[in-house]
Amino acid sequence: MSNKSEQRGYSIQAIGQDSHRFVETDDPKVLVLGGVEIKDCSGLAGNSDADVLLHALTNAISGITCKPILGTIADELCLNHGITDSQVYLELALADLEDLNYEILHISFTVQARRPKLLPLIPKIRESIAQITELDSEQVMITATSGEGLTDVGRGEGIEAFCVISVAPQQLNDNDLVGSKSE
Ligand SMILES: [Zn+2]
Repeated sequence: MSNKSEQRGYSIQAIGQDSHRFVETDDPKVLVLGGVEIKDCSGLAGNSDADVLLHALTNAISGITCKPILGTIADELCLNHGITDSQVYLELALADLEDLNYEILHISFTVQARRPKLLPLIPKIRESIAQITELDSEQVMITATSGEGLTDVGRGEGIEAFCVISVAPQQLNDNDLVGSKSE
């Protein structure tokens, strides 16, 4: 990772956050984290699939592009077109990043959840997010804490995620560089 950013001269970082409460226990909504459906745990409340990890990542990308997706375009897609898959919202943010010629070097999440137990789920979630973002799973890191009962999230009433991304200008090939030289 550091080699890549050295080659490009600089990298920039942005943070994104999101949180959702669990649905009531009799609600059959499925829990989705990082695009992975998790069994044996309540889903999260929200108009969309409430994928708190993909939402935190989408917000982090908006922190680079200055183009909010959640709360604006995503609401329109969700409420008026019935698109509840958070991957669709993330793809829009990724397209904005591509328009600015940035590529992602690294994604780091920290998630607070008393339930479900995240540690055994992390490898699968990393793989899923790496696939969606077209990165290697080594570029997607997730740490998790239980919250120790200190807050609503820590008492198991919801899940909160923070995400930091590092991006760098896409590497130009030699042909691109020829035209950009000026006296
Ligand atoms: Zn959300």
